[in-house]
Order: sequence, then structure tokens, then C-alpha cells
Amino acid sequence: MKIVVAGAGYAGTVAANRLARKLTDAQITVVNPSSEFVERVRLHELIAGSGTATRSLREVLDDRIELRIAAIEKVGDGVLTMADAQSLEYDKLVYAVGSSNHAPEGTYAVGGLDAARAAHAKLVELDAGSTVTVVGGGLTGLEAASEVATERPDLTVRIVSDEFGASLSSRARRRVLDVLRDLGVDVVTGEWTPEEPAALTLWAVAGQADGLAARSGLATDAAGRVAVDACLRSTSNPNVYAVGDSAAVPGARLSCQAALPQGAAAADNLVRDLTGRTGKPFSMSFVGQNVSLGRSNGVIQSAHRNDVPTRIWFGGRPAAYFKERVCRGALWSARTGRVASFPGPK
Ligand SMILES: Cc1cc2nc3c(=O)[nH]c(=O)nc-3n(C[C@H](O)[C@H](O)[C@H](O)COP(=O)(O)OP(=O)(O)OC[C@H]3O[C@@H](n4cnc5c(N)ncnc54)[C@H](O)[C@@H]3O)c2cc1C
Repeated sequence: MKIVVAGAGYAGTVAANRLARKLTDAQITVVNPSSEFVERVRLHELIAGSGTATRSLREVLDDRIELRIAAIEKVGDGVLTMADAQSLEYDKLVYAVGSSNHAPEGTYAVGGLDAARAAHAKLVELDAGSTVTVVGGGLTGLEAASEVATERPDLTVRIVSDEFGASLSSRARRRVLDVLRDLGVDVVTGEWTPEEPAALTLWAVAGQADGLAARSGLATDAAGRVAVDACLRSTSNPNVYAVGDSAAVPGARLSCQAALPQGAAAADNLVRDLTGRTGKPFSMSFVGQNVSLGRSNGVIQSAHRNDVPTRIWFGGRPAAYFKERVCRGALWSARTGRVASFPGPK
């Protein structure tokens, strides 16, 4: 039995490691363009120079898993074609290629490893007083702006967006903006234009599917993410499961919080499928949102099971500590294939 996991982010590594534990006689191969495991949730730390965001992928994967370094160009029926024109056959596929950030020319995507490294290289060269602009007021933009402002208080940091922290409760949002202002970040409400002068512009606008599923003929939603049934199986190819940012799972948002349990659930359903058992519908509830604001500040927002924020939140150093534990927990899950999550709302 040949099982291939396409993409080794949070969703793919959880699925692969869980499958390796449960199916000792299957041949499991992970295909990923790079030999590094990227902790995407730490890319803003890499940019600012306060942390790292990569480790050896080989160390994250179970020894029984074969690793193939390649970018998949097309998903065919039972066969993958790589960018280097090599092919790889599969009986079952877990599709977990994540999302990409198409940053406008001259800007650096916070969510991409190469761009984050290039942004860091540029940042360390900046003279005091230079301007860094962060485009996007979602949690990634807020984290990036505060991290840069904390590490480089000699720079002028701006964050530009039509709204800030829209997914947070109003009080938590106010706290985040207060912290940004205390750090000296210039919070600009409005639309960013490429003409705006800045020594470095960081693009923190939500990612999209990269088009692989659509050009492979898999059924997708309008955003190009693989359409799946309740058991995370592609609606157009029963041998393909799709998870994480690259899957259109109802009720999910692009997040590591959703990617990890989806990876685990797809692995379990694939095992059920191979052993003639009925798949179990995927169900998870979000528990909240975690925002780091530099290394010693943050905001933790709790949520109802349907991801709507509650009135409960906390900030400061305990929030920074909590967020750090969450990031470490995500890496631990990726490594072990073990994930804790709560069932979703009925
Ligand atoms: C700065 C930042 C902070 C964040 N903070 C949080 C947070 O606090 N909480 C949270 O829940 N989420 C957070 N997120 C979002 C979270 O990181 C993503 O939603 C999560 O990484 C999605 O996991 P994934 O496995 O689907 O995709 P990814 O982690 O992106 O992994 C996809 C993998 O597929 C590989 N791949 C891509 N194309 C191909 C191809 N053609 N062939 C083979 N492999 C391919 C990629 O190289 C990558 O290794 C944050 C994101 C950023 C950028």
C-alpha cells in the first residue's frame, strides 16, 4: 500500500506521523519542496530576529517515513508529477500543501519562508529612523508589527489596514492597539498603495490556495481549495484526503488550530477506509485566538465553539507565555501525530 502525503506543514506532518504509527506495513512517503519544517506561526519572529522558524524536516518525521524533496506540479489519478518531471505513484494521498501569500512586487510576505528570510536580511541592514510598513491588520500583521517594533525600537513601524484585529472582541482589540501604540507603532486606517515610501514593506494579507488542486482537476471551492466531504475526502477523487489551509473544510479558517486536528482526522479516516470501516465525520471546535505582541506581551482571546469570540480574554506576560506554549504544542503535535481538540458545535 503506497500512501503519499503532499506537503509537510502542520497538517501533513501530523497526518504522516500518525499514519506511520498506525500502519506499520504501509509505505509512507512525504513530498515537500524543502528539507526544512517551517513553523509558520513563528515567521514574524524570524523576520524580526527574535527567533527561528525552521528545523530539519527529517527530525520531525518518523524514521519509517520516506522523504522526497520535490514540488508537486500535478495530482493525477494514482500518480503525482513533480516539477522536475519525475513521478510518484500512490494508492492513497493526503493533500496538505497549505496556502501561499502572493505579495505585490517590492513587498515581502510574512507567511512565506524565503520572503521572511529576505525581509530579515533587509531589516538588519536598515539605518535607525527607516520606515517599516506592515500591510494587513489581521493577527499576523499585528504580530509582525509588534515583533519588529520590539526588536528594532530605532525604526519607524507603521501598520496599514482598513481594520485591525477584527476577529477579536472589542476589548481585546483595544488592548492590542494600546500595546502597539505603546511600542510606538503608527496605526494607519486606510488602504495601502504601492507608492507609499518605506524601506521595507511586509505583506501580512491572508494567503490563498496556489492553484495546484484546480489545475489537477480536483473539485475545489471558489478559492481553489480542495472540496471535501464530512470525512475530509475529496468529493471528486475518493483516494484523496485534503487537510489544512489547502482544504475547503466547512466552518474552518486558515489556521494551525484547524490544520492539526484535520491532519489527524484524515489519517484516522484513511486507516478506517483501508480496514473496511466507515469514516468518521470531522468535528472540531475552535477555542480562541492567540496573539503575540513581542516576546513578553500578547493577548489570548477565548471563543465560543463556533469561533465567535467570547468576552473572556487576558493579556500581558501570561499571554505571551501561553502563546509560546501553544507554538511548542503545535510542533509537538506535528512530531508525534497526537492532537488534542474538542468536538465541534452540533
Ligand atoms: C506569522 C504567522 C503567524 C500565525 N499564527 C497562527 C496562530 O497563532 N494560530 C494559528 O492557528 N494559525 C496561525 N497561523 C496560520 C498557520 O500557520 C497556517 O494556517 C498553518 O501553517 C496551515 O498549516 P498547513 O499544514 O495547512 O500548511 P503549511 O504549514 O503552509 O504547510 C504546507 C506545506 O506544503 C508544502 N507545499 C506547498 N506547495 C507544495 C507542492 N506543490 N508540493 C509539495 N509540497 C508543497 C509547503 O512547502 C509546506 O511545507 C499563522 C501564520 C503566520 C504566517
